[in-house]
Amino acid sequence: MNTLRKYKRITVKIGSALLVDRARGLKREWLTSLVDDIATLSANGADVLVVSSGAIALGRTILGLGKRGLKLEESQAAAAVGQIALASAWSEELGRTGLKSGQILLTLGDTEERRRYLNARATIGTLLKMKAVPIINENDTVATTEIRYGDNDRLAARVATMMGGDLLVLLSDIDGLYTAPPQVDPNAKFLPLVERITPDIEAMAGAAASELSRGGMRTKLDAGKIATSAGTAMIITSGARQNPLAAIERGERFTLFKPSRTPVNGYKTWIAGQLEPAGRLTVDAGAVRALMSGKSLLPAGVKLVSGRFSRGDTVAVLSPDGREIARGLVAYDAADAVKIAGLKTEQIEAVLGHQARSAMVHRDDLVVDGGPQMLEDTAEGEGISHAQDA
Ligand code: GLU
Repeated sequence: MNTLRKYKRITVKIGSALLVDRARGLKREWLTSLVDDIATLSANGADVLVVSSGAIALGRTILGLGKRGLKLEESQAAAAVGQIALASAWSEELGRTGLKSGQILLTLGDTEERRRYLNARATIGTLLKMKAVPIINENDTVATTEIRYGDNDRLAARVATMMGGDLLVLLSDIDGLYTAPPQVDPNAKFLPLVERITPDIEAMAGAAASELSRGGMRTKLDAGKIATSAGTAMIITSGARQNPLAAIERGERFTLFKPSRTPVNGYKTWIAGQLEPAGRLTVDAGAVRALMSGKSLLPAGVKLVSGRFSRGDTVAVLSPDGREIARGLVAYDAADAVKIAGLKTEQIEAVLGHQARSAMVHRDDLVVDGGPQMLEDTAEGEGISHAQDA
């Protein structure tokens, strides 16, 4: 496999529709063909991780729940039934090729809280060392609407970057990114290569994110941002054919998202990939310039504070026009942040009544989109300060 051969640690994400037929259940033949491809990658020396969706869909079929909408506890029960069947199918198929496998079920906190993140990373790392293929899914049986990833695209990106992977492959029902959603615009052009996920690229995914577009192109681009900023390349390709990974080698279409040439380090990868920031800080133009040159965010540059957060939580930093330009761990609780926003460092003590740290978000805890870690990428004038939301 030539295109894939150069990658050493590959995470493959499989969408539910590829693996499960509503009427007949698991698409065993297709799974067999995918596992043959995984065995080839593994024989070539790559570590392979699988993020497999399909628990709820499969459980629904096994339980004969039909097409009707499910209540939360019904989807959770369906996931419980489906996951056990899904994992055993993976284990049987991988076993047939001589590969071992292990099941990992993650809840949101397992990647968003630093200590649990390190813990999950250690377990998955040990599985890989033992040459077992991790079969990963969200723990849908306990996840509730507020505390869940909700889509396996971003979960897969979080896992791929957590494990220092060099490639994430999203097997999907579409063969890659088009200049517009092809079902809406018949003139949409296919894009084989994306150098960087700019606002123009994001606009190609179509309508704004909604519950319905979860798992659509929008979440795939969110996954792409998490992956590429951490130095992990991403491929979107169609899984609607047998041997979908070998198909990449045969020259079937795919979109490759290039990794940043200057990825952030492991700690900053964890910060940059945080899925739901607890708050937002809108800053002035001077602060934008300071952040772009690698400086800390000072209270003086903060114009507006929103959200309920505690010291140490992740916040998004927004430019004056409302675009997210950075993420970081905030040094103040929201109530104090509101009080000192816009103040010079020497004024802070009088307001808070105690000596305080000077930065609202310290540079070591800050990841700036298009900042110093991406200077090479922005050299052609693609930086966020010029970007427009199309
Ligand atoms: N975790 C869900 C499942 O296994 C799928 C989520 C997704 O499709 O992105 O059923």
